Amino acid sequence: MPPKPNYARSRELLATSLAGIKGVGPKLEKNLAKAGLATVEDVLYTLPLRYEDRRQIRRISQLRDGHREVFVGEVLAAGETTTPRARKRLFEVIVGDGTGQVSLKWFRYHKAWLSKRFAVGTRAVFTGEVKRFGAAREVHHPDVELLGSRSLEEVMAADPLSFGRVLPVYPLTEGLSQKVARKIFKQVVDAYAPLAVSPVPPEILKKNNLLPLDTALRECHWPEVGEDEPFDEERGPQQARSSLVFDEFFFLELGLALKRRGIILERGMAFEVNHVYTKPLAAMLPFRLTEAQRRVLGEIKHDMMAIHPMHRLVQGDVGCGKTIVALMAALVAIENDTQVALIAPTEILAEQHYIQFHQWLDKLGLKAVLLSGSLSAKEKQAVYEEIREGRAHLVVGTHAVLQEGVDFKRLGLGIIDEQHRFGVVQRGVLRHKGDNPDILVMTATPIPRTLSLTLYGDLSVSVIDQMPPGRSPVKTRVVSESQRKDAYIFIRKQIEEGRQAYIVFPLVEESEKSDLLAATQAAEQLAEEVFHGLRVGLLHGRMKPAEKEGVMTAFKAGEIHALVSTTVIEVGVDVSNATVMMVEHAERFGLAQLHQLRGRVGRGSAQSYCLLVRSKNCSEDGARRLKVMSETTDGFRIAEADLEIRGPGEFLGTRQAGLPDFRVANLLRDGRILEQARQEAFALAADPDFDSHPKYADTRQALLDRWGSRLELASIG
Ligand code: ADP
Ligand code: MG
Repeated sequence: MPPKPNYARSRELLATSLAGIKGVGPKLEKNLAKAGLATVEDVLYTLPLRYEDRRQIRRISQLRDGHREVFVGEVLAAGETTTPRARKRLFEVIVGDGTGQVSLKWFRYHKAWLSKRFAVGTRAVFTGEVKRFGAAREVHHPDVELLGSRSLEEVMAADPLSFGRVLPVYPLTEGLSQKVARKIFKQVVDAYAPLAVSPVPPEILKKNNLLPLDTALRECHWPEVGEDEPFDEERGPQQARSSLVFDEFFFLELGLALKRRGIILERGMAFEVNHVYTKPLAAMLPFRLTEAQRRVLGEIKHDMMAIHPMHRLVQGDVGCGKTIVALMAALVAIENDTQVALIAPTEILAEQHYIQFHQWLDKLGLKAVLLSGSLSAKEKQAVYEEIREGRAHLVVGTHAVLQEGVDFKRLGLGIIDEQHRFGVVQRGVLRHKGDNPDILVMTATPIPRTLSLTLYGDLSVSVIDQMPPGRSPVKTRVVSESQRKDAYIFIRKQIEEGRQAYIVFPLVEESEKSDLLAATQAAEQLAEEVFHGLRVGLLHGRMKPAEKEGVMTAFKAGEIHALVSTTVIEVGVDVSNATVMMVEHAERFGLAQLHQLRGRVGRGSAQSYCLLVRSKNCSEDGARRLKVMSETTDGFRIAEADLEIRGPGEFLGTRQAGLPDFRVANLLRDGRILEQARQEAFALAADPDFDSHPKYADTRQALLDRWGSRLELASIG
């Protein structure tokens, strides 16, 4: 055994190019590079997808149904045949070993090649899942290793890597077979895994029953499993895998912990709460805040009064009333002579917020401005000036607010809506628009706990876990295109009972024009035909804000019965008399968006309905989404299903979240380990020794290595 290198030397060693590994020629090197593998470290972290238990070679009579088994057999018969019922062609090979027979089946094959390969009398080692159909046993598409004239013992002795043990099954790409991968990877693992050093403090490993990095890596590639020890081929060696996952999460969370600590130590503005505007607003509101809203507002005010900048996330399901809480917070900042910026991820969202906020601010004698993409250069300059001179109390917009040229006189509070579409970077830019302003982040999509720990690891979290009174769950049905007529009849009946309806069309960027056309034509057609005699309105994103406001006001006043719209109504629209929503091409929407949309109904005490129209050419994922929607109204469950269907990368939005990719960890499965790692990391970050004690020098260095410049870390020595 070579002596253990220190952390820095270990890093150098693991960066060794694969070109230097014995058996890796230029061609293989190229194929490895295509798979993204250039260094020894890349190979160490390419973990098996699953494992193959080849500890025992079984007699055919001993094969266990439902297990992946290895057995030796001799070909008794082979040829093409057809399935009795479906009349599909297949290639069948019958093998036996004196104790029994098995039928091997191929459904995709090259006939001439298989016929030649499985001449009667050929002996081979077969591996595959054993299935039982009545009295017969079958293995479909087995792995095959021909024995030729050699005995099994000879074959095993010649290839000790492939028999008598648990084998890794690697994710492969073109030009790299399982056999070659095993051979090359084994060499790399044997030579380099012992040199891997991770500076997770040993006492933390011990406390959490984890293995050191070198052992964990080796075990994950080539698990040492006793002869009779149970082994799960799908899950693999649990302790080793958990150790690698912990390692990955630990440094992530340590980075977040330090970032958070850095913020806490910074100086910001300490606001006073004098209720100059919040009291009058509360008096004007047609409702009382819910208990959850008051609690969260209290937490926000507490942060705002502190001398350190606030970094708080408000999480709560659609319709729980985050907007009013944000508005109250904005008013606190404004009464302290500072300005507020409100940032939304899309123009439409920004406009909707603007419409809501400026109505209240006007009444309080305050000024809100909208920085929208549709402003002319001249108008934009005028708005910039109002912001610079402090005449604008509240600035609403998209990331346009973050651009250069937008200078605040004194920014006191930045509010970001729908945070998960914005990265850590944007939060940073906003902070630099002022002198460490408070930051309030709102997320309308409830985020699964594992994800929110990662995404918002550096934020304090408040949850509005209560709906305003009088809401009832929306009944949701998926309807096919042929059922559309019935749906219209249902809607008409609701309207005749005095209710109102939304009919929503998707708007996809590329085909914006034709979709707009679809909505416009539908509105005309509905007014003439199915909804004849009723008032049908139209709302879409291309309309001027004032026009939109006009339509919305008419809808609110009950002057419009059915509102045909593109997704502009996704947020902020609030008409409690609207009890039906019909969504066209519903499968085109994402889950979060459908959930948002549906949140527009079910706002009054009357029973509300959501009709999701599924197109003929609906994709499988689309159908899954619609099913989720018809099964639950719980935003939390919907978010979890969303994460499952789309996977974390997509869920977080085009990798903008500023998070590292995980090499081993899986956010869906490894939530428990994430929480463990977070606890340990936050505890370590709070340890005064951590910043300077030599015993943590490597841990500090590892942190910098892993995060790079991704996070502006608080400076640590
Ligand atoms: P979201 O959390 O999805 O942003 P909103 O802030 O848009 O939700 O609020 C949804 C609707 O509920 C709005 O029309 C708002 O006026 C209303 N609302 C908010 N708080 C209350 C409350 N405490 N009681 C009754 N209605 C409320
Ligand atoms: Mg909202």
